[in-house]
Amino acid sequence: MRTVITGGTVIAGPDALAATAVTLDGGHIHTIDPRPPEDADVRLDAAGCVVLPGLINCHTHGVTPGPLFPSGAAALPEDGWLGNLDRHLLAGTTTVLNLCGLATMDEVRTADRAHAVKVKGATTHTPAAMAAAQAADGAGLTEAHLTTSVEKQLADGAVAIGELGGGQTMGGGGQDLQYIPAAIHRETGVTISAEQARTLKEAVLGPRLDGDLDEPSLKEALAAAGLAGFSAQTAAKLVRESVLPSFHAALDGLREGVEAAAKYGVPALVHSAAASGKPLLELARKQLGASVIATHSNHPSYSPGEAVETALALQSEGWLLECCTFDLLHRQHTVRTREHWDRMFAETAVDLLATDYGYLGQHDPLLSGVADLVASGHRSLPAAVALASANVADAIPGLAPNSGRLRPGMAADVVVASEDLREVRHVFVDGIQVVRDGQLTLAARR
Ligand SMILES: [Zn+2]
Repeated sequence: MRTVITGGTVIAGPDALAATAVTLDGGHIHTIDPRPPEDADVRLDAAGCVVLPGLINCHTHGVTPGPLFPSGAAALPEDGWLGNLDRHLLAGTTTVLNLCGLATMDEVRTADRAHAVKVKGATTHTPAAMAAAQAADGAGLTEAHLTTSVEKQLADGAVAIGELGGGQTMGGGGQDLQYIPAAIHRETGVTISAEQARTLKEAVLGPRLDGDLDEPSLKEALAAAGLAGFSAQTAAKLVRESVLPSFHAALDGLREGVEAAAKYGVPALVHSAAASGKPLLELARKQLGASVIATHSNHPSYSPGEAVETALALQSEGWLLECCTFDLLHRQHTVRTREHWDRMFAETAVDLLATDYGYLGQHDPLLSGVADLVASGHRSLPAAVALASANVADAIPGLAPNSGRLRPGMAADVVVASEDLREVRHVFVDGIQVVRDGQLTLAARR
């Protein structure tokens, strides 16, 4: 089966080739040439469109039937993780790395077989990371998850170690969204918002979770959350008991994971945020010899200046920087400022682009991040595309060894998008069309 995509602007490495034809044959890219070949089974006119490599997202959650997040929460139902994979594919992502690191590679393969998106797995089965998950949640963990190890999962096909730490285990957004409100509700019957939970948490522990109780602020936060009559001491105890046990274990898990990355020669992906920034720097300065990616270096728990400063310091120790779209570009349910994003791309050499999960999986798509970087003048089109394709394939060698570039011989994972990248028209995975005119084809789910 030979498909010829004609007339588009083709992003091939550092170049954007105008009016060039890409020929897909036998699951691979056959030729990239201004003159299309004569013979083809299918011809697709891409004039006025951009033709780019299928994107590679190295920071996703909820894409397998395994435990969710670094907290090992209950797995999503099948429709949930398949729906998440549908959304990735419709937005031009053809390979994802599952960073819910407590899934087994069996669960990752189940997702990989069920969907056209190529699903690869990472492992965080270190003793402390598993203890952190159990302290925060652990509802999705079974015997199979608790008795395996990083070594076994790497032998079974895991391509990286991560996500080490997470908002749920490190007193971040997951605590604010879920666990602190649940603890308050159990005690008082009152439902508080994530923002109110964060204000309570910061009054008790400070923004980096290493501070002292600020009682006047706590009383103010309690009153604002409709808990004026509730004892500040009890509230402080609830917050500490919700946040700290998993936080301390997760810090140990970070170290174990980076040491394992050095030992086994695979990259580690670490959760970079205000609460983990300082421990990460200490770890980076030890120069353990691991290849490490600081995920969501633009995390909103940092101040924008702190995000840039931490990123530059980690980069000077040889770590790579990944920035996430979260939902900061369009939806803005959880991240309502783009200041971190703009400053990171203006002031640092970000290596990788990803999405993370967003609120209930509603992140802004990876391709929106690429489009934004071009529209806002932060990167050229080929450089922005590379952040979400070739750079990712290079940083995590096992993730997409034959994808990430439009080049003869590479896998035919190809996206045809509108010129402004706002609309994905067609997507091919291994030469098979899985999105046509913006709709999934029958080949998307298997
Ligand atoms: Zn994270």
